[in-house]
Amino acid sequence: MGIFKKPSLKVFGGGKKKDMPEGLWINCPSCGAMLHQLELDENLKVCHKCLHHFTLTAEERIRSVSDQGSFQEIDVKLETTDPLSFLDYGEKVKVYQQRTGLKDAMVTGRAAISGHPVLIGAMDFRFLGASMGSVVGEKITRAIEIATKERKPVILFSASGGARMHEGILSLMQMGKTSAALARHHAARLPYISVLTHPTTGGVTASFATLGDIIMAEPKCMIGFAGPRVIKETTHQNLPTGFQTAEFMMDHGLVDMIVERKDIRNRLAEILDFIAPASAAQGRQK
Ligand SMILES: [Zn+2]
Repeated sequence: MGIFKKPSLKVFGGGKKKDMPEGLWINCPSCGAMLHQLELDENLKVCHKCLHHFTLTAEERIRSVSDQGSFQEIDVKLETTDPLSFLDYGEKVKVYQQRTGLKDAMVTGRAAISGHPVLIGAMDFRFLGASMGSVVGEKITRAIEIATKERKPVILFSASGGARMHEGILSLMQMGKTSAALARHHAARLPYISVLTHPTTGGVTASFATLGDIIMAEPKCMIGFAGPRVIKETTHQNLPTGFQTAEFMMDHGLVDMIVERKDIRNRLAEILDFIAPASAAQGRQK
Protein backbone atom coordinates (compact mmCIF):
# COMPACT_ATOMS: atom_id res chain seq x y z
CA MET A 1 0.00 0.00 0.00
CA GLY A 2 2.93 2.28 0.78
CA ILE A 3 3.66 2.90 -2.86
CA PHE A 4 0.43 4.87 -3.33
CA LYS A 5 1.43 7.37 -0.64
CA LYS A 6 4.78 8.31 -2.14
CA PRO A 7 5.02 11.99 -3.08
CA SER A 8 5.01 12.51 -6.84
CA LEU A 9 8.37 13.16 -8.48
CA LYS A 10 7.34 16.71 -9.27
CA VAL A 11 6.84 17.61 -5.62
CA PHE A 12 9.90 15.64 -4.55
CA GLY A 13 12.42 17.37 -6.81
CA GLY A 14 10.40 20.55 -7.26
CA GLY A 15 12.86 22.98 -5.65
CA LYS A 16 15.83 22.02 -7.79
CA LYS A 17 13.95 21.71 -11.07
CA LYS A 18 12.68 25.27 -10.91
CA ASP A 19 16.24 26.57 -11.34
CA MET A 20 16.74 24.78 -14.63
CA PRO A 21 15.66 26.54 -17.83
CA GLU A 22 12.64 24.65 -19.06
CA GLY A 23 12.81 22.49 -22.17
CA LEU A 24 16.57 22.85 -22.68
CA TRP A 25 17.54 19.34 -21.68
CA ILE A 26 15.70 16.19 -22.63
CA ASN A 27 16.08 12.74 -21.17
CA CYS A 28 16.41 10.04 -23.83
CA PRO A 29 13.64 7.54 -23.00
CA SER A 30 15.71 4.71 -24.46
CA CYS A 31 19.25 5.11 -22.99
CA GLY A 32 18.63 7.78 -20.34
CA ALA A 33 21.24 10.21 -21.72
CA MET A 34 20.69 13.91 -21.11
CA LEU A 35 20.44 15.55 -24.51
CA HIS A 36 20.58 19.26 -25.24
CA GLN A 37 17.58 20.46 -27.25
CA LEU A 38 19.73 22.34 -29.81
CA GLU A 39 22.00 19.35 -30.33
CA LEU A 40 18.94 17.12 -30.69
CA ASP A 41 17.36 19.47 -33.25
CA GLU A 42 20.57 19.52 -35.29
CA ASN A 43 20.58 15.74 -35.28
CA LEU A 44 16.99 15.57 -36.67
CA LYS A 45 15.79 14.62 -33.17
CA VAL A 46 17.78 11.39 -33.01
CA CYS A 47 19.72 10.51 -29.82
CA HIS A 48 23.41 10.45 -30.83
CA LYS A 49 24.16 7.83 -28.17
CA CYS A 50 21.60 5.09 -28.88
CA LEU A 51 19.97 6.28 -32.15
CA HIS A 52 16.54 6.57 -30.49
CA HIS A 53 14.30 8.41 -32.95
CA PHE A 54 12.15 11.03 -31.21
CA THR A 55 8.84 11.99 -32.82
CA LEU A 56 8.95 14.72 -35.47
CA THR A 57 6.14 17.18 -36.15
CA ALA A 58 4.62 17.03 -39.63
CA GLU A 59 6.38 20.26 -40.55
CA GLU A 60 9.78 19.03 -39.33
CA ARG A 61 9.26 15.78 -41.18
CA ILE A 62 8.43 17.42 -44.51
CA ARG A 63 11.28 19.91 -44.11
CA SER A 64 13.73 17.07 -43.42
CA VAL A 65 13.15 15.42 -46.81
CA SER A 66 12.01 18.04 -49.32
CA ASP A 67 14.09 20.46 -51.37
CA GLN A 68 14.43 23.82 -49.65
CA GLY A 69 11.45 26.11 -50.30
CA SER A 70 9.69 23.58 -52.53
CA PHE A 71 6.81 22.64 -50.20
CA GLN A 72 3.42 24.13 -50.98
CA GLU A 73 0.73 23.03 -48.58
CA ILE A 74 -2.75 22.13 -49.84
CA ASP A 75 -6.11 21.92 -48.04
CA VAL A 76 -4.73 23.98 -45.14
CA LYS A 77 -8.12 24.97 -43.76
CA LEU A 78 -9.87 21.60 -43.81
CA GLU A 79 -11.23 20.89 -40.33
CA THR A 80 -13.67 18.48 -38.72
CA THR A 81 -17.36 19.31 -38.34
CA ASP A 82 -17.64 16.97 -35.32
CA PRO A 83 -20.28 14.98 -37.26
CA LEU A 84 -21.50 12.92 -34.29
CA SER A 85 -21.39 15.79 -31.74
CA PHE A 86 -19.32 13.37 -29.71
CA LEU A 87 -19.00 14.33 -26.03
CA ASP A 88 -16.24 16.96 -25.69
CA TYR A 89 -14.61 16.20 -29.07
CA GLY A 90 -15.32 19.68 -30.45
CA GLU A 91 -13.57 21.39 -27.54
CA LYS A 92 -10.70 18.92 -27.63
CA VAL A 93 -10.07 19.66 -31.30
CA LYS A 94 -9.96 23.38 -30.53
CA VAL A 95 -7.36 22.80 -27.79
CA TYR A 96 -5.14 20.74 -30.13
CA GLN A 97 -5.57 23.28 -32.91
CA GLN A 98 -4.32 25.99 -30.60
CA ARG A 99 -1.49 23.87 -29.24
CA THR A 100 -0.16 22.72 -32.63
CA GLY A 101 -1.19 25.51 -34.99
CA LEU A 102 -2.70 22.81 -37.23
CA LYS A 103 -6.34 22.27 -38.20
CA ASP A 104 -5.96 18.48 -37.92
CA ALA A 105 -3.34 15.71 -37.69
CA MET A 106 -2.27 15.59 -41.35
CA VAL A 107 -0.22 18.00 -43.45
CA THR A 108 -0.17 17.47 -47.23
CA GLY A 109 1.14 19.34 -50.22
CA ARG A 110 3.29 19.50 -53.33
CA ALA A 111 7.05 19.33 -52.88
CA ALA A 112 10.23 18.30 -54.65
CA ILE A 113 12.74 15.71 -53.48
CA SER A 114 16.06 16.06 -55.25
CA GLY A 115 14.24 17.63 -58.18
CA HIS A 116 11.40 15.10 -58.32
CA PRO A 117 8.00 16.75 -58.01
CA VAL A 118 5.91 14.69 -55.56
CA LEU A 119 2.77 14.86 -53.46
CA ILE A 120 3.86 14.48 -49.86
CA GLY A 121 2.01 14.04 -46.57
CA ALA A 122 3.02 13.62 -42.94
CA MET A 123 0.97 12.83 -39.85
CA ASP A 124 1.49 14.92 -36.72
CA PHE A 125 1.31 12.73 -33.61
CA ARG A 126 0.80 15.74 -31.31
CA PHE A 127 -2.73 16.18 -32.67
CA LEU A 128 -4.91 13.58 -30.91
CA GLY A 129 -2.29 10.88 -31.47
CA ALA A 130 -2.56 11.54 -35.22
CA SER A 131 -5.69 9.43 -35.27
CA MET A 132 -7.36 9.16 -38.68
CA GLY A 133 -10.71 10.91 -38.79
CA SER A 134 -12.58 12.33 -41.77
CA VAL A 135 -10.14 15.22 -42.26
CA VAL A 136 -6.97 13.10 -42.16
CA GLY A 137 -8.52 10.59 -44.59
CA GLU A 138 -9.85 13.32 -46.88
CA LYS A 139 -6.49 15.15 -47.03
CA ILE A 140 -4.63 11.93 -47.85
CA THR A 141 -7.20 11.01 -50.52
CA ARG A 142 -7.09 14.46 -52.13
CA ALA A 143 -3.28 14.43 -52.19
CA ILE A 144 -3.28 11.01 -53.87
CA GLU A 145 -5.92 12.12 -56.39
CA ILE A 146 -3.90 15.21 -57.30
CA ALA A 147 -0.81 13.02 -57.70
CA THR A 148 -2.71 10.68 -60.03
CA LYS A 149 -3.99 13.61 -62.09
CA GLU A 150 -0.58 15.32 -62.28
CA ARG A 151 1.21 11.97 -62.74
CA LYS A 152 3.45 12.36 -59.70
CA PRO A 153 4.69 9.91 -57.05
CA VAL A 154 3.10 9.96 -53.58
CA ILE A 155 5.16 9.87 -50.37
CA LEU A 156 3.31 9.47 -47.06
CA PHE A 157 4.82 9.44 -43.56
CA SER A 158 2.70 7.59 -41.00
CA ALA A 159 2.65 7.92 -37.22
CA SER A 160 -0.74 7.20 -35.75
CA GLY A 161 -2.73 5.67 -32.94
CA GLY A 162 -5.26 4.38 -35.52
CA ALA A 163 -8.82 5.38 -36.34
CA ARG A 164 -10.35 8.37 -34.52
CA MET A 165 -13.06 6.93 -32.30
CA HIS A 166 -14.78 10.30 -31.90
CA GLU A 167 -15.98 10.11 -35.52
CA GLY A 168 -17.14 6.48 -35.42
CA ILE A 169 -17.87 4.86 -38.76
CA LEU A 170 -16.80 8.01 -40.63
CA SER A 171 -13.29 7.33 -39.34
CA LEU A 172 -13.36 3.70 -40.39
CA MET A 173 -14.52 4.53 -43.92
CA GLN A 174 -11.29 6.54 -44.41
CA MET A 175 -9.46 3.21 -44.55
CA GLY A 176 -11.44 2.17 -47.62
CA LYS A 177 -11.36 5.65 -49.14
CA THR A 178 -7.58 6.12 -48.94
CA SER A 179 -7.01 2.54 -50.16
CA ALA A 180 -9.32 3.07 -53.15
CA ALA A 181 -7.48 6.29 -54.11
CA LEU A 182 -4.18 4.37 -53.92
CA ALA A 183 -5.60 1.58 -56.09
CA ARG A 184 -6.49 4.14 -58.79
CA HIS A 185 -3.02 5.69 -58.44
CA HIS A 186 -1.49 2.23 -58.84
CA ALA A 187 -3.69 1.45 -61.86
CA ALA A 188 -2.32 4.63 -63.48
CA ARG A 189 1.14 3.02 -63.05
CA LEU A 190 2.35 5.66 -60.60
CA PRO A 191 4.52 4.97 -57.53
CA TYR A 192 3.67 5.34 -53.87
CA ILE A 193 6.32 5.18 -51.14
CA SER A 194 5.11 4.69 -47.57
CA VAL A 195 7.38 5.60 -44.66
CA LEU A 196 6.37 4.13 -41.30
CA THR A 197 7.50 5.96 -38.18
CA HIS A 198 6.86 5.44 -34.47
CA PRO A 199 4.12 4.41 -33.83
CA THR A 200 2.11 3.22 -36.84
CA THR A 201 -0.93 1.32 -35.56
CA GLY A 202 -4.61 0.46 -36.00
CA GLY A 203 -6.60 1.52 -39.04
CA VAL A 204 -3.61 3.39 -40.50
CA THR A 205 -1.50 0.23 -40.54
CA ALA A 206 -4.49 -1.66 -41.95
CA SER A 207 -4.94 0.77 -44.86
CA PHE A 208 -2.71 3.24 -46.71
CA ALA A 209 0.44 2.80 -44.57
CA THR A 210 1.05 -0.79 -45.65
CA LEU A 211 -0.02 -0.38 -49.28
CA GLY A 212 3.21 1.23 -50.50
CA ASP A 213 4.97 -0.03 -53.60
CA ILE A 214 7.95 0.46 -51.34
CA ILE A 215 7.57 0.44 -47.57
CA MET A 216 10.29 2.08 -45.52
CA ALA A 217 10.47 2.20 -41.72
CA GLU A 218 12.54 4.07 -39.16
CA PRO A 219 14.62 1.85 -36.83
CA LYS A 220 12.85 0.31 -33.84
CA CYS A 221 9.53 2.03 -34.56
CA MET A 222 6.40 0.25 -33.44
CA ILE A 223 4.22 -1.12 -36.24
CA GLY A 224 1.08 -3.07 -35.47
CA PHE A 225 -2.69 -3.28 -35.60
CA ALA A 226 -3.93 -3.98 -32.06
CA GLY A 227 -1.63 -3.32 -29.10
CA PRO A 228 0.48 -6.20 -27.66
CA ARG A 229 -1.60 -6.34 -24.45
CA VAL A 230 -4.86 -6.79 -26.38
CA ILE A 231 -3.33 -9.54 -28.53
CA LYS A 232 -1.92 -11.32 -25.48
CA GLU A 233 -5.27 -11.20 -23.68
CA THR A 234 -7.17 -12.39 -26.75
CA THR A 235 -4.86 -15.19 -27.86
CA HIS A 236 -3.59 -16.22 -24.39
CA GLN A 237 -0.14 -16.65 -25.88
CA ASN A 238 3.23 -15.10 -25.14
CA LEU A 239 4.39 -12.81 -27.91
CA PRO A 240 7.79 -13.30 -29.57
CA THR A 241 10.70 -11.01 -28.66
CA GLY A 242 10.78 -7.78 -30.64
CA PHE A 243 7.13 -8.26 -31.70
CA GLN A 244 5.70 -5.22 -33.56
CA THR A 245 9.04 -3.51 -34.12
CA ALA A 246 10.25 -2.39 -37.57
CA GLU A 247 12.99 -5.04 -37.38
CA PHE A 248 10.46 -7.82 -36.69
CA MET A 249 8.29 -6.59 -39.59
CA MET A 250 11.34 -6.50 -41.85
CA ASP A 251 12.14 -10.13 -41.00
CA HIS A 252 8.53 -11.10 -41.72
CA GLY A 253 8.19 -9.31 -45.05
CA LEU A 254 5.94 -6.36 -44.17
CA VAL A 255 8.70 -3.76 -44.51
CA ASP A 256 11.12 -3.47 -47.44
CA MET A 257 13.86 -1.46 -45.74
CA ILE A 258 14.78 0.15 -42.44
CA VAL A 259 16.35 3.55 -42.92
CA GLU A 260 17.82 5.87 -40.30
CA ARG A 261 16.26 9.31 -40.30
CA LYS A 262 19.41 11.07 -41.54
CA ASP A 263 19.40 8.85 -44.64
CA ILE A 264 15.70 8.97 -45.56
CA ARG A 265 15.96 11.98 -47.89
CA ASN A 266 18.81 10.43 -49.92
CA ARG A 267 17.14 7.03 -49.99
CA LEU A 268 13.89 8.57 -51.27
CA ALA A 269 15.87 10.45 -53.93
CA GLU A 270 17.61 7.23 -55.03
CA ILE A 271 14.33 5.33 -55.27
CA LEU A 272 12.65 8.17 -57.18
CA ASP A 273 15.60 8.32 -59.60
CA PHE A 274 15.06 4.64 -60.20
CA ILE A 275 11.27 4.39 -60.40
CA ALA A 276 10.36 7.84 -61.73
CA PRO A 277 13.32 9.08 -63.81
CA ALA A 278 11.05 11.12 -66.08
CA SER A 279 9.65 13.14 -63.21
CA ALA A 280 13.17 14.17 -62.17
CA ALA A 281 13.90 15.55 -65.60
CA GLN A 282 10.57 17.38 -65.56
CA GLY A 283 11.30 18.88 -62.11
CA ARG A 284 14.83 20.00 -62.97
CA GLN A 285 13.69 21.73 -66.17
CA LYS A 286 11.37 24.03 -64.22
ZN1 LIG B 1 19.48 7.54 -26.27
